[in-house]
Amino acid sequence: MLVFTTVAALRCYLRSCQLGVDRIEQAVGLVPTMGALHAGHLTLLERARQQNSIVIVSIFVNPLQFGPSEDFQKYPRQLEPDRQLCEKAGVDVIFVPTPEEMGMNNGGVFTASVALTQVVPPESMTSVLCGRSRRGHFQGVATIVTKLLNLVQPTRAYFGQKDAQQLAIIRRLVADLNLPVEIVACPIVRESSGLALSSRNQYLRAQEKEEASVLYRSLRQAERAFLAGERSSAELIALVKLELAKVPSIELEYVESVDPTTLIPLDKIEEVALLALAARLGSTRLIDNILLRNRQPIVAIDGPAGAGKSTVARQVAQALGLLYLDTGAMYRAVTWLVLQSDIPIEDELSIAEIVCKCEIILRMSDETLAPVRVWINSQEVTQAIRSLEVTSQVSALAAQLSVRQELVKQQQLWGEKGGIVVEGRDIGTHVFPDAELKIFLTASVQERAKRRQQELKNQGEANLSLEQMQQNLVLRDWKDTNRDIAPLQKAPDSIEILTDGLTIAEVTDRIVSLYREKVEQG
Ligand code: C5P
Repeated sequence: MLVFTTVAALRCYLRSCQLGVDRIEQAVGLVPTMGALHAGHLTLLERARQQNSIVIVSIFVNPLQFGPSEDFQKYPRQLEPDRQLCEKAGVDVIFVPTPEEMGMNNGGVFTASVALTQVVPPESMTSVLCGRSRRGHFQGVATIVTKLLNLVQPTRAYFGQKDAQQLAIIRRLVADLNLPVEIVACPIVRESSGLALSSRNQYLRAQEKEEASVLYRSLRQAERAFLAGERSSAELIALVKLELAKVPSIELEYVESVDPTTLIPLDKIEEVALLALAARLGSTRLIDNILLRNRQPIVAIDGPAGAGKSTVARQVAQALGLLYLDTGAMYRAVTWLVLQSDIPIEDELSIAEIVCKCEIILRMSDETLAPVRVWINSQEVTQAIRSLEVTSQVSALAAQLSVRQELVKQQQLWGEKGGIVVEGRDIGTHVFPDAELKIFLTASVQERAKRRQQELKNQGEANLSLEQMQQNLVLRDWKDTNRDIAPLQKAPDSIEILTDGLTIAEVTDRIVSLYREKVEQG
């Protein structure tokens, strides 16, 4: 692991990576932090490690985001433990610049006092929630994040859902300034008491830590009421306040219910709300939040080719009375369409044009075991999309950005109201990262080849040898796992089921029981 303190050294390193011997573009993951790393940061590092060839962590206590009376001087700085944690997490580079190195030559605190070009996010997003008391804070965050994104030019950057306002503002700035980076949000990590992990928890004494756990308890009270049908923000906020009042040392700064994307305050919650609060405990300021979502649960089933995902997902959906979505069928339908046209598979521009215009219809068949029926541009392709030709080309198409963007948009529309079992390669990691139940279904390649061979035989397709079948599967898995965009991966919070030696009914039963345990009984 390398540690750089200067922009010049970091740039030099990044240039050498780009010009690696094989000249293959490497995915770079950036985790911007202020240090004092804890288990919450660790999940960001792990996620970044999983998804990228190079992982860079920046540690910078950004003076711009502290107000004059805030804890800039006192903020914990502990490079050595941070370095060890990064090393263990397999980080490649730590970037630890000084304020001077980042262009803040007076090293001064508070955004207004620094002579520096700044990034100003929309007032509507910075004046609510924490913005009320932390004037200039989000401008300071936006400025430093933009600088880091420009310096590192990562493929992906990782942020925690704990700072939900920061996350929304960064997503917005990336969209508004057309920055070429994917923002990945990671769930809040909590202590067993429910207290959200934070570097500032170091300021709390044992008793205060205990008291601070009421923050999450109060949000959970509101969540319970929401799930029972309460839709008025005022009522939900009242419940939070009632619970907080049980701990007199907690001094509430705000609790608000806002749209999680625009941060516009909501009176009534239709689909989704971010319920966020800030409170003081002694001199320590703490924040927490919870997403309230008016939707039925989603079951995400991912896994390699031929693991039995479609059959199992269909049966699980039937057993639980949920909808079923076969996303592979969508990628296959688009592949079929491209193969029908004269467009070469590498011609991403022309493919982007036809994908944006195509209409895909999926319908569950009445027979339990029959595959989903598929139409593209009014033509039924249920059989045609299972051909060897489509199967051999689909992974190349599925690696194209425009194809994924369009199909993921359609898939998310299908899942808008929940109540659905969705299977594919990136469902738990990208399409529905907040799915209530995530399953990673897998089997040995020998077993999967046997199953696929049987499937093809049933369809009357050319009989491939078992060896050829295995090679095809390995190649497809390799392409799906190694593509840059939304590669096939086991989500950290998914449950792996190895299906060798298990019948379809056994696997289905296991998933149905997991659903009952995890989702229905909470
Ligand atoms: O599951 P099925 O074999 O029908 O998927 C066909 C192909 O579609 C996969 O090999 C993969 O390349 C692509 N796919 C994907 N993301 C999904 C579902 C399928 O990239 N969510």
